[in-house]
Amino acid sequence: MKLAIVASVVLFFNFTIACAQQVGDQYKPVLDEAAQAPTLEPNLRKLTDEIGGRVPGTPAMDKAVAWAVDAFKAAGADSVRAEPFTMQTSWSEGNTQVAVTAPIQFAVRAVSIAWSPNTGGITRVVDVGSGSPEEFAKAGDFRGAILLVHSKVLEKWEDLFNEYLDAPPIIDRALQGKARAIAWTATREHDILYRHINAAPEKFDVIPSVLLAREDAERIARLIAAGQQVHMRITLNNHLGGPVKTSNVIAEIRGTEKPDEWVLLGAHLDSWNLGTGALDNGCDAALVIDALRAIRASGVKPRRSIRFALFSGEEQGMLGSISYVKAHRTEMANGIAAVIFDTGSGKATGFSLGGRKDIKEKVDAMMQPFAAWGADTNTTDAFVGTDNLDFLLEGIPTLVINQQEANYLVNYHATSDTFDKVDFAELKKNLQIAAYTATYLANQPGSLGERQTRAQIEELMKETTLDKQMQLFHQWDAWAAGTRGRSQ
Ligand SMILES: [Zn+2]
Repeated sequence: MKLAIVASVVLFFNFTIACAQQVGDQYKPVLDEAAQAPTLEPNLRKLTDEIGGRVPGTPAMDKAVAWAVDAFKAAGADSVRAEPFTMQTSWSEGNTQVAVTAPIQFAVRAVSIAWSPNTGGITRVVDVGSGSPEEFAKAGDFRGAILLVHSKVLEKWEDLFNEYLDAPPIIDRALQGKARAIAWTATREHDILYRHINAAPEKFDVIPSVLLAREDAERIARLIAAGQQVHMRITLNNHLGGPVKTSNVIAEIRGTEKPDEWVLLGAHLDSWNLGTGALDNGCDAALVIDALRAIRASGVKPRRSIRFALFSGEEQGMLGSISYVKAHRTEMANGIAAVIFDTGSGKATGFSLGGRKDIKEKVDAMMQPFAAWGADTNTTDAFVGTDNLDFLLEGIPTLVINQQEANYLVNYHATSDTFDKVDFAELKKNLQIAAYTATYLANQPGSLGERQTRAQIEELMKETTLDKQMQLFHQWDAWAAGTRGRSQ
């Protein structure tokens, strides 16, 4: 018995090694080139330090688009295009000022919530705890007041997801009770401020909202808990603007055998601008460019075309990828997969397959060479929150990289999201995974998975709760109306 087990372990071991080599050898030149990554760090330094935070409609975003076009050309793309689209609303922060005026006076460190409308004046503050229906009921009459909402410090991905998920019902309750404004407690410590958005795509927020430094917010909460009547002055004079033009940047390596069929490797180029958008998502924009360079330099010729996409408007509701899919709708039938990187430079653990159980076996096999890095655990969840969504809604298999939290959450959308936070050793590994995955999928004899029908996509939504997420995050109506996603 014991001997038999030993023998099968040895056999299994040999099989694993042989398989990994077999899969790896064909793509070894791509992996070797990606491991070099000579332009990754200088490209990212230029994007973050010399261009900075990149909100669509600002000169910085326009510079970033020009930077991306040049970088893709230098990387050896067969073609590069800036593909413009219009965002219906634009916004920039004015001189946000928040101060407690009674029972004592102190300045409160705060930023406006993105796309928030303006307000002014002195108002009492009502603590509504974490914003549950029970806590709202307990708060009593808060007409005309500023609501202070508590939060939990981010530790895991789930916490970040919940920060977004918790907001819409709180906003509804605030509106119902006619609150003047909402003051959200920062989910990071040490005075870190960050840009958060609750507005529906293309719309402004429905109530004036600020984010307070955690330390100041908790001081206010303690004053209220001690029985003090706290008053606060909020001055928001944001610029709420009309339509602006921005662009996605799309580069291509043309396929040798089936050039009309395509695999897309994408990341968003835009960022918020309190920091310089290094982890979210400059590092992955630079990764996509360097993946093109590595594949080109390797001499490996993809059979299908690989499209390298840097999207704009992601932070305002994936507007760039929505626009891309609309503009290229007739080509969706030829899409093999959309592969998206959007979670900083933490260690990769595998791909999230957007609910597609049918492709898991193939992706598991594809990722086997990365088992030693622990990057071969693929998951079949689906979520709203990055640029794969509209490809998924077109029935195309999507692969979104799963990564460890590393230092992503503390710096997310924050003043502290800068070049120095990027872990280049891990980013280079992720670059190898990206370049390999794009080439591998472009070279597979068959498709990764069939293109799903609308009925199949709706089934997937139910299984993964994607339908509920889309409703909460204002992404549902266009799908329901048939103006977004696959119609049949
Ligand atoms: Zn992002």
